[in-house]
Amino acid sequence: MANFEDTSLVSSTTQAQLITQADQVTLGVARRAPIVLTRGQGARVWDANGRNYLDFIGGVAVISVGHAHPRLVKALSEQAAQLMHVSNLFYNERAIELAVKLTAATGFARAFFCNSGTEAIEALIKLARRYHYERGDTKRNVLISMHGAFHGRSMGALTLTGTPEYHKGFAPLMGGVRYATFNDIESVKREMSDEVAAVFVEPIQGEGGVTVADDAYLRELRALCDASGALLIFDEIQTGIGRTGKFLAREWSGVWPDACALAKGLGGGFPLGAVVVNDRLSAALPPGSHGTTYGGNPLACSAGLTVLSIIEQEKLVENAAKMGALLAEKLKNMVGHQKTPCVVGHRGRGLLQGIALDARVKNADLIAKLRDAGLLAGSAGGNVLRLAPPLIINERDIDEATGIIEAALVELCKSC
Ligand SMILES: *Cc1c(COP(=O)(O)O)cnc(C)c1O
Repeated sequence: MANFEDTSLVSSTTQAQLITQADQVTLGVARRAPIVLTRGQGARVWDANGRNYLDFIGGVAVISVGHAHPRLVKALSEQAAQLMHVSNLFYNERAIELAVKLTAATGFARAFFCNSGTEAIEALIKLARRYHYERGDTKRNVLISMHGAFHGRSMGALTLTGTPEYHKGFAPLMGGVRYATFNDIESVKREMSDEVAAVFVEPIQGEGGVTVADDAYLRELRALCDASGALLIFDEIQTGIGRTGKFLAREWSGVWPDACALAKGLGGGFPLGAVVVNDRLSAALPPGSHGTTYGGNPLACSAGLTVLSIIEQEKLVENAAKMGALLAEKLKNMVGHQKTPCVVGHRGRGLLQGIALDARVKNADLIAKLRDAGLLAGSAGGNVLRLAPPLIINERDIDEATGIIEAALVELCKSC
């Protein structure tokens, strides 16, 4: 089992050599931390030097049930030995079981499976346009998304991603997209017309800075879409599957969107995306109008099934709510504290939390310092430190993580 002893901070030749090699043979498209991770267990990961880290980013909100959960390992091994892939030419048991479980857990009517969050968004872009087309409303093809939104990197999802930096050099983007301001219903009203097929919104903008949508704003969006005939679509790829202390973040506002995009925590580390829709959209995509070779394969669906079963059995939604409240309280105490004056704000829900830093401290510097002290964290837009630990974490993990964060902030703020 776990050996929590730290080894030297100095990179061994193996790790340094691996990184040199990676930089010669891979596209340098990601900004990676200079560590090679080799193993995980629960809320911890180990690098090639044998050093361990408390994982408070969880593969960007993906590692819902922790690394190497024995039940998930067993289910995947057994399913791999039984049947991995059949394509969408045939039914398979695991996909049927997962659709039953996911619709029951979310309250939506039907599910479609794919392999990533981006693919779930692409499916919903097509579904939104086709829904109106099938009803004879061929004018309704405009999509509204929010400034600061993140919906993925393929050309359709990228266009919905409301951050110009991500668009740079990729023009022409997909046509028919308008942008409104997050948490500003008047700005959405200005873009609304009888040409709008759907409004896309995240209940919490994760990449955009862990910015929580006001419950009232989401309710007003629902009313606006109902009045105009547009669909309301939630991107719950980051916020879904227990992350915020509810199974879906939509439950905080009580708003029912017409459809949700899911991924990340659903597969627990295995690539799995899903779309869930209400009754009204059940036939929006007629046979042959959309598809994916790997989507809904038995191996990915067995991962999803096991993740949902672990979440239920270990009461991880409740744990996310409880641990999230504790984490939030500790982070809040750092805001404007005389020892950490560079922390200007805190936000989030459940185990998706962020602290905003003023311009004197860069989140990248903080993240590097945390890593040196044995804690993995992520960044979000607007100079925000993002935390999205596995839903299995306990009080001790939170004490350790917030202790490391506070110590790093005290030091960084000192040199301001
Ligand atoms: C991660 C993410 C996506 C993209 O998902 P991928 O699995 O990386 O394709 C889309 N929307 C949100 C809100 C996300 O957090």
